[in-house]
Parts: sequence; structure tokens; C-alpha cells
Amino acid sequence: MSDTLYLYNTLTRQKAPFAPIDAANVRMYVCGPTVYDLAHIGNARPIIVFDVLFRLLRHIYGADHVTYARNITDVDDKINARAAERFPKLPPVKAIRKLTEETVTQFHADIASLGVLEPTVEPRATEHIAEMVALCDTLIAKGHAYVAADHVLFDATTMPDYGKLANRTLDEMEAGARVDVAPYKKNSTDFVLWKPSEPGQPAWPSPGGIITAGRPGWHIECSAMAGKHLGEVFDIHGGGIDLVFPHHENELAQSRCAHGTDVMANVWMHNGFLQVEGEKMSKSVGNFFSIHELQETEVFGKQPWHGRVLRFAMLSTHYRQPIDWTLERVMQAKNALQEFAGLVHGVTAATNPNPDVVGALRDDLNTPSAISILHGLAKSAKRGDAAKAADLRATLEFLGLYGGETAAELSLQKFAQVDAKQVYALIDQRLEARKNKDFKESDRIRDEISAMGVVLKDAKDPKTGEIVTTWEMKR
Ligand code: AMP
Ligand code: ZN
Repeated sequence: MSDTLYLYNTLTRQKAPFAPIDAANVRMYVCGPTVYDLAHIGNARPIIVFDVLFRLLRHIYGADHVTYARNITDVDDKINARAAERFPKLPPVKAIRKLTEETVTQFHADIASLGVLEPTVEPRATEHIAEMVALCDTLIAKGHAYVAADHVLFDATTMPDYGKLANRTLDEMEAGARVDVAPYKKNSTDFVLWKPSEPGQPAWPSPGGIITAGRPGWHIECSAMAGKHLGEVFDIHGGGIDLVFPHHENELAQSRCAHGTDVMANVWMHNGFLQVEGEKMSKSVGNFFSIHELQETEVFGKQPWHGRVLRFAMLSTHYRQPIDWTLERVMQAKNALQEFAGLVHGVTAATNPNPDVVGALRDDLNTPSAISILHGLAKSAKRGDAAKAADLRATLEFLGLYGGETAAELSLQKFAQVDAKQVYALIDQRLEARKNKDFKESDRIRDEISAMGVVLKDAKDPKTGEIVTTWEMKR
């Protein structure tokens, strides 16, 4: 076992010892969700994986010496479309705020039950527009970007090693981009930093002297937020493998060219994809599960699943491998975690997590190996080894797999079946009734929802004062 932390770096395609730029402030950025809909179980993978890394970094460098930024993408064309669909009567900007506020509130509740710690900062794109505009202007001034047809475009040919992260040459990228190239682009590989908005779309004053108000492209959002919260160069940048190209390639191109640096982040980490029972998740196949409905309804294997069980299942495969989300895997996770809970419930945790488990994590987050060590600890604890039981408890807590639950509490089979879509429809009807001051009707709907075994939680959006409602099953 080594005291060194080894991480696999997509940029160098190697596992290498990790050396922070400043051990007193280790900085990590992870691309967070685009909040137009509930996060699905695939989205949970980077959230859980990088939470484990966050915990490990805090363990190694000290809890106050790690800055973890995980953003919220709340400007996006999918958000605009969904907001118009969900809240057709509201003006667009209000509808968007309402949709994203609701989605973010539910997202927070969902991932908290997965044992995920809050990141140090959770920047939102809409709150960093000025930084995005400034980045665009810097890139134009330095000759890396140009204005055409009210867009700001990044000229990819001005960056000699563009494509290095994705391991693609400019020729390959040109071939890939040749379909439907916008006529205003100088080169097919150029990408959008800023685009003009139509009436009804969210819009801000544009950079580059463009008169038409517009909105940022996706990549510039992350460059601006990462730069603001972590500086021009930081330690680790993470996300799912699908983000390597074009999102991360473009993020790093923008940031490096704007700041004149050789790297944006030293280490780039990407989790593999999740599929369900051997198939790509898709709404039409019927194997698309939100984190929320897996925990609150019986969509998967005819039972709801405790968040800790979902986390355990997620960590049973190494993060860089694809993971097949099967009923068998989740069942096994539940059995193992219930057994562990039976052994550690009421036991006082040891001061530190098990060193072998920490050692396994130091090897590029080898969670399957960590889990097999947990099984070994459980075996000894079962034989009556009290020190090993204390060790097991501390280690489970460290990994976010345990929060004092009894074995019975990890089983949610007592829930009644509810239809999540129906719950959302009733929530919308109740809000509508309240807006019309029809409190009799809104109370009636609340009772109807309550009879389904569902508890509503109303929270006020601090910015707009609007009520945002989330729900969960009565426990
Ligand atoms: P999105 O909201 O689509 O931008 O995705 C948010 C995060 O979830 C990104 O880091 C994606 O790479 C990741 N992600 C999306 N789908 C999956 C999946 N099926 N398996 C693993 N990660 C995923
Ligand atoms: Zn990003």
C-alpha cells in the first residue's frame, strides 16, 4: 500500500501520482447537471464518484484544504423548451427560473439521500454571465475568437494542440464536423461562445460589440465558473466520459487561450457510462430512471431503494469502467449493506477509516477493492471482533455508505406504489389553485396527495419568493 494518491489522467492517458498545485487548497471542478428535468441514475454516477474523491482529498489534505466546485447549468436550450412546455402561461424568464429552481431543489434532496456531501461552491451559469462576456471579449482581443452573424465563435485553428484531450487531430475533427456547418463559421471546427437570442429566449447584453442581446454557449459557462472559483489553473477537472469531446476540449481551449496558460486543469478525470440491464437508458425503451423515482417509487424491481443502497451499487464497479445497472447488482448491494448495518448499528465508530480501504482509494479510486475489504472487516466483526466492527463503521461513514440506519431502515418495501407523474401533476394543480387563492381546492389536493403516502415540502426561492415544492414518501 502506498501513501501516494494515483489518478488516471485522460489528458496523458496514464495513471500518475497526484501532486496538488497548493496542498493548502486543492481545487477540483466537476460539470454538474443541466437542470431541465430530474437527474437520472446515469447522472448520479459522476456525482457519487467525485464525492468519493472529494472525501478522499479531504482525508489526505484536510477538510479545510479542498475546494470543490460543482456547477449548475441553468442556461440551456433544453431548459427553455421544457419551461415553455411546463409553464406555458408564465413569461419565459419566469418560467425558466421556476423550472430550474424546482429541479435544483429536488436534485439537492435526491443526492443528499445518496450520501453526497455539499460541494464547497455550487455556481450557477445565470449568475456568471458577466464573467462569460469578459472571457469572450478577451478571446476576441487575443485573436482566438471572432464575431459573425451576431455570434461569437472560437477559431479552433488558432490553438496548435486543439484536440489533445480527446486525442483527435484537426483533420479528424473537421471530418466529424462537416455535416451542416453554419455558413458564418470560418472553419468547420470553430465553436460557439455566444449566440443571439430570439424573442422569448433568455437574453443578456452581448460581448464583442454585438447589438442583439444573446446568451452563452454551454462550454463558456464552465470556463467562466471554473476560472472565477478555482483560478486560471487548478488541479482536477471531472465529468462523464461523454463530456471529453466537445465540452471539455472546448472548455480547456477557451480557458487556456484566454489566460495564456499551458493547461486549464492538471488532471482530467472521466467516469464511464451507465447502462441499464445491458441497454442504453432511454425513455422509449422504458428503462430510464430518475434518482428520485428509484428511491420513492417501485419502478425498478418492484420496490423503492434506499439512497445508500444505490450509492453502494454505484461504487461496486470501478469508475472508469462502464457500469451495467442491473437488478441483481442493486439487490446484492442491499443485502451487503443490510448485513453491514446489522453489524455496526449502535457501535461507536473508530477514529479513522480503515487504512487498507484508504489505500485502495489512493489507487485511482479502486472502490471494488475497497468493498471487498469491507466484506473482510464484516467477517471479523461477525466473529465478535469489536475493534473490526468499529473500524467497519468508521469506514462505511467515510465512504458515505452509512449514516446510522438499522438494517430494516435500508429496506423501503413498505411503501405503497405511487405514480410519480401523477404526483407532479397534482403538485402543479395545487400550485395553480393556490395562485388563484382557491385554498379549499389546494387543501383538497394536498389531502389527496397525502392519502397516497406522499409528503410535500414547500420551500421559498430566496431570489424570487416563489414557492418550490418537492416530495418524498412518508417514512
Ligand atoms: P448532463 O446533465 O447531461 O449534462 O449530464 C450531467 C453529468 O452526468 C455529466 O457529467 C454526464 O457525463 C453524466 N452522465 C450523463 N449520462 C450518463 C450515463 N448514462 N452514465 C454516466 N454518466 C452520465
Ligand atoms: Zn462543464
